[in-house]
This record gives sequence, structure tokens and C-alpha cells, in this order.
Amino acid sequence: MTRPVTVFGPDFPFAYDDWIRHPAGLGTLPDSVHGVQVAIIGAGAAGVIAGYELMRLGVQPILFEAGQFGGRLRSQPFEGAEDVIAELGGMRFPISSTGFFHYVDMLGIESAPFPNPLTPAAGSTVIDLLGQSHYARTLDDLPPLFREVAQAYDRALEDGANFGALKQAIRNRDAARIKGIWNPLVAAWDERTFYDFVASSEAFQALSFHHREVFGQVGFGTGGWDSDFPNSMLEILRVNVTECDDHQRYLIGGAERMPRQLWTHAPEMLVHWPKGTTLCALNGGATRSGAVRIRRLASGQIEVTDQWGRADAFDAVLATCQSHLLSTQIDTEEALFAQELWMALDRTRYMQAAKTFVMVDRPFWKDKDPATGRDVMSMTLTDRMTRGTYLFDNGPGKPSVMCLSYSWMTDALKVLPLPVERRVDLALSALKQIYPDVDIRSHILGDPITVSWEADQNFLGAFKGALPGHYRYNHRMFGHFVQDDMPPAERGIFIAGDGVSWTPAWVEGAVQTSLNAVAGIIRHLGGTSLADNPCPVDAFAELGPVKLRD
Ligand SMILES: Cc1cc2nc3c(=O)[nH]c(=O)nc-3n(C[C@H](O)[C@H](O)[C@H](O)COP(=O)(O)OP(=O)(O)OC[C@H]3O[C@@H](n4cnc5c(N)ncnc54)[C@H](O)[C@@H]3O)c2cc1C
Repeated sequence: MTRPVTVFGPDFPFAYDDWIRHPAGLGTLPDSVHGVQVAIIGAGAAGVIAGYELMRLGVQPILFEAGQFGGRLRSQPFEGAEDVIAELGGMRFPISSTGFFHYVDMLGIESAPFPNPLTPAAGSTVIDLLGQSHYARTLDDLPPLFREVAQAYDRALEDGANFGALKQAIRNRDAARIKGIWNPLVAAWDERTFYDFVASSEAFQALSFHHREVFGQVGFGTGGWDSDFPNSMLEILRVNVTECDDHQRYLIGGAERMPRQLWTHAPEMLVHWPKGTTLCALNGGATRSGAVRIRRLASGQIEVTDQWGRADAFDAVLATCQSHLLSTQIDTEEALFAQELWMALDRTRYMQAAKTFVMVDRPFWKDKDPATGRDVMSMTLTDRMTRGTYLFDNGPGKPSVMCLSYSWMTDALKVLPLPVERRVDLALSALKQIYPDVDIRSHILGDPITVSWEADQNFLGAFKGALPGHYRYNHRMFGHFVQDDMPPAERGIFIAGDGVSWTPAWVEGAVQTSLNAVAGIIRHLGGTSLADNPCPVDAFAELGPVKLRD
């Protein structure tokens, strides 16, 4: 039987899914620390998962949230309709995210294939480039140029990254083999961009500039990859090799259900707390408001002050907010982190992302054009302002949803200062060029919904996108949970979340770094892992990410 590809490494090939599935749990804490309070800043995926696992170990996690519960898993309901939502953050989850799906499945949240370009779930796709539209159900329906582009990228990956062998090693969970292939790639590609990888490959050198242009628009899997052209190639290789760009599913009822349901979920097995205890109950029914100050007390504990001035001392603190907020939103005592870590936290580079949604009366796009027999409208990838248009049929009796535009970087910045109505107008006029005979306006219900993550003071950007030369920074942030060799003044504060992970923009990275922090906190509180279920701290010395020379 072929084993599935999962987000197993390649930087730290640790089996998080096996660790959290182990029936005996993640570790044990001494009785003396049962009931101690640990502060968690941020109630997104990373914060809530860490809180849930620490509760199971007998800790009282106290969550602070400055904005909306769920963080970047935000499913905003349309006014006036029942359960009709716009997925403003994470919306398509690759099945290789086995840590994330562990919680999704445990909570009984159902999922379905995401309507990505050229997938059966989308039905049909229109690719509109340089003023020309192509209608397709699969890649084979497109002109040969598109297959040439796809094949060139496959070849470039094979030639430049020993891709097939690396993927096979990930399937086999062969850590030594993964490292044998991956570590030299780290040294070779940290300082080179995605665009460089594509443009300098023999496979693309043999083709025209237009092929690279088309690759940038359509790319692989989800489309729109030219926004990532300036990023470090390592970041793209991780996405490709762990199949984050493939076999994606959406969560029925919205991605936000995951953190929300975990918050009120009573675990089967937990120590110290009575059966039926939930994270919500341990927090008195609500999160604290935003954290504004973090400092070390003379006792060695760490004090967190919230926006209303309430200050409490904690045995450990986990910060899961975007790292820039540790400077802009929170007065964080400088001595809590080494200067090298501050450099990494501050140099973290965020990408921009904007989405604009409307609710419509029905999935009218499935109507057939009598002249051609084709769907009147399709999932659309284009070089026009909208970039990606996604269509969601919520089933009979429910309004449908159109994500008129999902864009990144320059395309997201174009709409940053614009109000939602103007964004909708611009999107509709771009789509009018592609579908002159379709009257989208006549189907719209209620008010549109939009987001620009970079405009929100609780985020300042959508997700990390590492630039060339950022590997060492990421190495420092990711490895920070192993604190044995740190001076006492820097211990007891942990970081986790999208920006700390090796696979930013994918929730699995937030999950994995959250679990690292749990392992670090167990150790910090004097606990241990179980003999037959080693934790990320135990595995780090042997399997930790390769360190590049300074
Ligand atoms: C537009 C977009 C699309 C995405 N698409 C996908 C996708 O399709 N698939 C996928 O797998 N992943 C996707 N992601 C990534 C995924 O959503 C994230 O990796 C994940 O949700 C991050 O979780 P987190 O807990 O690390 O951070 P967050 O969810 O950001 O949680 C951190 C929390 O900290 C809070 N906070 C900030 N300041 C303070 C303070 N001072 N005090 C207290 N709290 C504070 C914030 O309000 C936030 O709720 C997407 C993200 C975005 C933005």
C-alpha cells in the first residue's frame, strides 16, 4: 500500500500526528504544578490547540485575545442568512495536514473537496490571460502550452530538488533519507528566489518567457503563484513536497468551527481536572482581552497585563500572535528574548492578502449557455484584478457564495484603501470582461464582505512569506521551544503559530509549532514525555533542522 504524503518535515521530520494520537497522552507533569496557570496570547488555531493539550495535562491555560476568536480561521456569516459564510482566512486544507485533521476529525467536523481550478469539485474552470479565455474541466482541455508549463515545472523540481526521491522519503517517514536530500537543498536555495529557480531551470530555459508568465498566473494546484516569485525557494519546495497545494478540502460550516469547538470540547482523557472540563470553563466562559504588556517578575514568573490593566503572574507564557505585534501591540520586556531572536521576529516578512465575497441567490454559474452547452461561469483564474474567483454552492434552499476576488501582494495592495462597495465594483467590471453576458449583480443578496489582513492591527499581514536569506531567522524562531541551553532570563516564554513555522500560510505549520510549544512547556514545568511517546523536545537534537554556518 502506498503511504500518504504528510507534512512530515522536511526540516524537522517529527511525527506530530503519531505523537498526539498516542492513547497515553503527550507526557506527565508533577502533581505540584497541576492547576498552575499558563498564559496563551492569541485564540487562533495555535493558541487554542496548545490550550487544549495543556489542559489535558492538568494545567490551567488562560487565553488572551485582542480581536476575534479563531484568528485567521475566520468564517464570517452573511447578514440575514443562516449558516452562509465567507471564509476570510484559511479556507482549503490539504489532507497532508494530519495534525490539523486530527482535531477536525475528533470534533466531528465534516469536510468536502475544495473547488480549486481544474478539479472535479470546481466543475469547470476558466483561465483568462492576456485577454484570451480558455474553458476547461481538466488540464487536458487546455491548449498544449499549459501542459508544457506543468511538465516544465515538474522537470525543474526533479532536476533541481531531487523531488521524487524527497517525496518518497516523506511518504516512508525515512528521516535520515529526508535529511540527506533536504539539508543540501537548504544550503543551496536559502538565498535564491522562487523566480530564480524557475527561470534558471533547464526545463524553463528551453521555453519562452510567456511560459514563465503563464506559470506565474496558473502555477500548480491553486494558481496565482507569481505573488510568491520573490520568496525563498525553500518555502515553495516545502509546499510542493508536502502536497500542501494538492487534495485540499474545506470545512463544512466554516474553518472557524475548529478552534471554536475545541474551546468547548471536553476531552475523554485528562488529568487533575474533573471529567467534562473544557478550556472555555477553565477560562470562566470567555477569553481575556488583548495583552498589552509582558515582563519578568522578581519571582521568576512572567506577568501579562491585559488592555484593562489587569496583571497576573504566570508560570509560562505562549505568544501565538504575529511576531511584529510583540513590538507594536505589546510592550514586551526586551530581555525576555535574545537579540538574535528579536532580529528574527522583527525581520519576519508578511505577505498581503485581500478577499471580497458576495452572497448570491443560487449557483447560477451552473446554468448552461445554450450556444456552447458550457457553464455560464466557472472558477476563474485571470491576470485581471480579481486573480482568483471561487464559487461555492451551498446546496438546495441556501444562498450560494462567490469569492469574487482572492489576491495577494501587489494585487491585494491595489484594493487596500478601498471600501467594500468599490472592491465589488472593480471585481464585477473585471469579470464582465470575461463573462460579458452574465449579469452577476442581479443575483447578489445582502451586503458584501471583504478583508485585508494587513489593515488589521492584530495581524499586520496575512501570513509569513520568507525572503531569501531568512532560513537562519526561521531556524531561531522554530527551535526556540528547546530552552535547556538558554539563560534563565529567557526561559518560560514560548512562541508558536504561522510565522514561527516552516510552512507559513498553511495551518498545519501553526499546529506543529503549537505542539512544539506544548512540549517545551511540559519540560519547563518539570514534566517529562512518556517513554514510548517521545516528544519534539526529545527528538530535536537528532532530527532538528540543519544549522547553516554563520
Ligand atoms: C487570507 C489567508 C488565507 C489562508 N489560507 C489558508 C488555507 O487555505 N489553508 C491553510 O491551511 N491555511 C491557510 N491560511 C493560514 C492559516 O489561516 C494560519 O496559518 C492559521 O490560521 C494561523 O493560526 P495562528 O494561531 O498561528 O495565528 P492567528 O490565527 O493569527 O492567531 C493569533 C491570534 O492572536 C491575536 N492577537 C493579536 N494580538 C494580540 C494581543 N496583543 N493579545 C492577545 N491576542 C492577540 C489575533 O487577534 C489572533 O486571533 C490562510 C491565512 C490567511 C490570512
